[in-house]
Amino acid sequence: VIRHARVVTPAPGTAGARRGREIGRLQVLDNATVLCAGGRIDRVEPGGAVPAAAVEIDARGRVLLPAFVDCHTHACWAGDRLDEWEMKRKGASYLDILRAGGGIMSTVRAVRAASREALAHDLRSRLDVMLNEGTTTVEVKSGYGLTTDDELKMVRAIRDAAATWPGTVVPTALLGHAIDPAAGSAAAFVDRVIEETLPAVSAEFPGIAVDAFCENGAWSLADCARLFERARAAGHPIRVHADQFTALGMLEEAVRLGAVSVDHLEASTPQGLVTLAASAAVGVLLPCCGFHLDGRYAGARPLVDGGGAVALATNLNPGSAPCSSIPMAVALAVRHCGLSASEAITAATANAAAVLGMPDRGIIAPGARADLVLLRHRDERLLAYEFGGDPVDAVVCGGRVTRPDRAG
Ligand SMILES: [Zn+2]
Repeated sequence: VIRHARVVTPAPGTAGARRGREIGRLQVLDNATVLCAGGRIDRVEPGGAVPAAAVEIDARGRVLLPAFVDCHTHACWAGDRLDEWEMKRKGASYLDILRAGGGIMSTVRAVRAASREALAHDLRSRLDVMLNEGTTTVEVKSGYGLTTDDELKMVRAIRDAAATWPGTVVPTALLGHAIDPAAGSAAAFVDRVIEETLPAVSAEFPGIAVDAFCENGAWSLADCARLFERARAAGHPIRVHADQFTALGMLEEAVRLGAVSVDHLEASTPQGLVTLAASAAVGVLLPCCGFHLDGRYAGARPLVDGGGAVALATNLNPGSAPCSSIPMAVALAVRHCGLSASEAITAATANAAAVLGMPDRGIIAPGARADLVLLRHRDERLLAYEFGGDPVDAVVCGGRVTRPDRAG
């Protein structure tokens, strides 16, 4: 039982992602009681009687939100890119770093050398950090294996790490992340992924979302379209990294293919965002990338004002976004992507849950999973206003207190 809380939640009762003006409409209940039972939220009411045997948190004067849903991460990796980062800070170019063996391929080499157990162990440690930061549902992508065996190893490691974690992990097969130079040519590699890796992943992980990174130097528009057509025919939801550095037409193609989400959008044209707004796909903002890399952010206003759906994620990865904090992503999205604090809260809860096809979380309502985060703040806007600290006082995951109340 959480008593005397300022309960703030995206309004319940919407099927799928909140769109347009709805995104900024939060339901607020002051001095309310939230009762959880059997891992679910049982009742939300003003005042409210408390069962004698209940575990109780007195949230007086503080904001209770649905726990965060991080719908885009690369949290499974090995090694680090610290030397590369230091080179970049000293002015090294992308090509310098590539020649020194850096970039995605350096993480690919480290992942290939790591055992499934080591990958699962490191991922599990990162998940625990995220849980403490208020995130109870996390999407984790493969994509640093590139060969069929190494991609399967990654998805299995993600499943292994999830098995003992109190929260929920949703794996995604990022089959189109980079081009493996060892395959001989880009065409040979893409053929192998489509003819060999995709069927192997389909057989072991039916229905897993399939993702690709459409960019110059990564996967071309035509190759992504080929992969996605085949993935869709095999029953996989489609997600895509589009318009991070270059608008190659992937956003429009993703809409045509019925993608669940189009992620990044830093280089999208206003017209592209209007097209996305008119579609069922959710635009996923990843502002930690802009903060770490180059100061470029997606402008979300045309998407939201056009009646579209927007979600927000950390993009946690060792290259472009070494950040697992949703509060940090919220702070950045409000400063740089044009979201209001209320919109950013919906984007990181109910709408992120919609991207993952999980309508039972990201809201505080009877029947929803009892995943809750208690902030030390009296006003939810402080979540966006302050940055760099630790605003989380307590975390409830599946009805259990996983981070005891700091003020209790
Ligand atoms: Zn990503």
